[in-house]
Amino acid sequence: MQDAVVVGGGPAGSSFAFELAKRGLSVTVFEEHKQIGFPSHCAGHLSVRSLRSLGLYPLPEGIVENTFSAANFYSPRGTKFSVHLSQPLTCAVNRARFDQFLAKKAEKAGAKFNLGIRVESLIVESNFVKGLNVVNSDGIEEQIRAKLVVDGEGISSRLLRQAGLVTLRPETMVYAVEAEMENVVEVEEHAVEVYVGKDYAPGFYGWLIPRLDGTAKVGLATRRGNPKEFLERLMSRHPVASRQLKSANVKSLAFHAITLGGPIPRAYTNGFLALGDCASQVKPTTGGGVIFSITCAKAAAETAAETLTKSDLSSKALSAYQKRFMDKLGFDFDVMLRARKAVDSFSDEKIDRALRFASKVGFDKSLRDVDEIDFQGRTLLGMVRKPAAYATLAYLLGLYLQDFRL
Ligand SMILES: Cc1cc2nc3c(=O)[nH]c(=O)nc-3n(C[C@H](O)[C@H](O)[C@H](O)COP(=O)(O)OP(=O)(O)OC[C@H]3O[C@@H](n4cnc5c(N)ncnc54)[C@H](O)[C@@H]3O)c2cc1C
Repeated sequence: MQDAVVVGGGPAGSSFAFELAKRGLSVTVFEEHKQIGFPSHCAGHLSVRSLRSLGLYPLPEGIVENTFSAANFYSPRGTKFSVHLSQPLTCAVNRARFDQFLAKKAEKAGAKFNLGIRVESLIVESNFVKGLNVVNSDGIEEQIRAKLVVDGEGISSRLLRQAGLVTLRPETMVYAVEAEMENVVEVEEHAVEVYVGKDYAPGFYGWLIPRLDGTAKVGLATRRGNPKEFLERLMSRHPVASRQLKSANVKSLAFHAITLGGPIPRAYTNGFLALGDCASQVKPTTGGGVIFSITCAKAAAETAAETLTKSDLSSKALSAYQKRFMDKLGFDFDVMLRARKAVDSFSDEKIDRALRFASKVGFDKSLRDVDEIDFQGRTLLGMVRKPAAYATLAYLLGLYLQDFRL
């Protein structure tokens, strides 16, 4: 019998498979698509520092599409706040190639991949997850038994529900559209464009991530309404984006949800661990989940290796996983959840005022040496010592508190 089976060959599933296989344990990944990485729905905007600390940077040729040392933020009125950093902080990866790289790495370490196999349901016996019911592309069903099941199924979180765990809360989800565009103009080569405000992306923001050839990944997410209609509105009415995208050709569109509610309260049960988007291990501020899912995959594999060695796959033994990843990310999740709540409460007029204030006091200069965007709680702690950052944060707090009548 396999030590572990994994649902999904995304960053979460493949990273777990790599980490477990490298510890000499047997693991097989079941991916419903015939090719890893497709269809892709993600902007692939990742922190260089985090990739490096995970041992993934520099990446092999052909995966990184661009690197970024600047970001321009725009209010719905077009007020601009720019940050130019002393070195490249982030990169955009081709997500399909990135996922394939992670899967190959896991395969080299000894993990097996079964592609084109859909996991239909969990085998649950006496309140213990014992394996998977799978079906291949010809409709042939099979039972796969394993000592441990790891769920990396992504946002659908269907199996999580079957495992009896609390699933993602709809009120913490935003609905995204991601477009491949060509003929994008008036953008800096190494700057990410961010469009904030309820007029264009209520509950989230819009983005433009340029490549060096005039193409770009452009998208937004929204808490309400139709994301495609919001994208059309951004392209036609936003004071800045409408200029940048005036002659843009939309080559493809992808739709997908993002979870912003912070990690689920329990990502384990008897014989079962949940990982990545299905466990909501996603930054509540930016919706980025790739780095956190790889980070949590490591915590999951460490716990799995320990519990498999002791032949104790009980919920109690597997709870060490939750503790591990919360020790690493708990503080940052807490800060980011609060930041998300505060930003969500801002009217477009307040956002405009905040961006003006930040520019006026030179907050951009305080950000020049920022080298960490994933662990945002820690970044914030580092910044408050700088006067302009302190002033801006105090101003934001003032705007936030204005709405509370004491
Ligand atoms: C529009 C958009 C833009 C984004 N941009 C960024 C970004 O710039 N940076 C960033 O860090 N994050 C970004 N994210 C979030 C990021 O895509 C996810 O956090 C990340 O992909 C999570 O990895 P995962 O492995 O948990 O899930 P996924 O990448 O979704 O992988 C899940 C895998 O499981 C497979 N699967 C599902 N169900 C089954 C089944 N029943 N049987 C077999 N296989 C199954 C799927 O086919 C898929 O391959 C973005 C998300 C969206 C929607």
